Amino acid sequence: MRAAVLHAPGDLRVQDWPDPVAGPGELVLKVGSAAICGTDIRIFRGRKNKGVHFPTVLGHEFAGRIVAIGAGAGDFKIGECVGVDPVYPCGRCAYCQSGRENVCQNRQAMGYEFDGAFAEYVRIPAIGVQRGNIFRLPEGIDWSQAALAEPLGCVLNGQENMGIGVGDSLVIIGFGPIGALHLKTALVSGVRQVLVVEPNPARRAVAAHLGAVAIDPKSADVAEVVRNATDGLGADAVIVAIGVPQVANQALTLARKGGRINMFAGFSVGDMPPIDVNLIHYNELTITGASALKRRHFGTALALIASGRIDVSDLVTHRLPLAEAGRAMAIAEAGEGLKIVVEGPA
Ligand SMILES: [Zn+2]
Ligand SMILES: [Zn+2]
Repeated sequence: MRAAVLHAPGDLRVQDWPDPVAGPGELVLKVGSAAICGTDIRIFRGRKNKGVHFPTVLGHEFAGRIVAIGAGAGDFKIGECVGVDPVYPCGRCAYCQSGRENVCQNRQAMGYEFDGAFAEYVRIPAIGVQRGNIFRLPEGIDWSQAALAEPLGCVLNGQENMGIGVGDSLVIIGFGPIGALHLKTALVSGVRQVLVVEPNPARRAVAAHLGAVAIDPKSADVAEVVRNATDGLGADAVIVAIGVPQVANQALTLARKGGRINMFAGFSVGDMPPIDVNLIHYNELTITGASALKRRHFGTALALIASGRIDVSDLVTHRLPLAEAGRAMAIAEAGEGLKIVVEGPA
């Protein structure tokens, strides 16, 4: 088969690669679509190396059609369309047993430990099948929508960690695909208002179209705009949806006393931001993190997309064939459009 193989940071080649075979308990999918994630770009540029090996096939946001079923892989059928929660928990560690399977000590993931879906076919290892990470796609959901269930599931995990609810005022810093999914999710949860901080004018226009107040941090005093919109108090909740150092401390300044901040974005190696810890201390701020997703978030994300409660199709701005995976990565890295999807042969 053909696959986009990353041999070293910056060295991505679309080339022949061994056809995956379904061993005992395993599945092979013909890829329908695989979306590019900010994490893929960080690995591509060598800014994330934890758990990464070379050569590797990236791609952890994907869906596909079952074309081979190994012995004992359950009741799946050839031809079924499935989405895959790519993070496989061990089920035994202290975190798995206490409801935090997303930070499992032994977790293994597609696109990291196992070859991912920037390829014509992808093998689903037995652990993924056994753990229930393979979800049959609901009616009325297309390939690229299904590929976005993973990032939406991660967003659901982050908002659950911080607690977003009816009547909250919310600031989202960074409006890439993840910021956009945060906005759409928060609106479904009944927030009072959302302010989006984003320097890219095209992305600000999308945020405004979706109902947010879009702020240009280059020309506006962000803190003043947020204060004016919140009776001088600051926001109930702030989500950091882009991993650039200067926004981490800004997030603390935009929250009201008792406010909640979610550090959703990962920061690149060496990019550790300075933080005024007295803002946390005196303002009694609560800061949460967000790492990947739990299986139930994936199921909820698929249901929200399939029901139309959260429409993700307008976030997919580019669809490219596998042969142009390198160009797809470049478009994503340049921040053109929002979500870039590599289309598979299924
Ligand atoms: Zn991702
Ligand atoms: Zn575990």
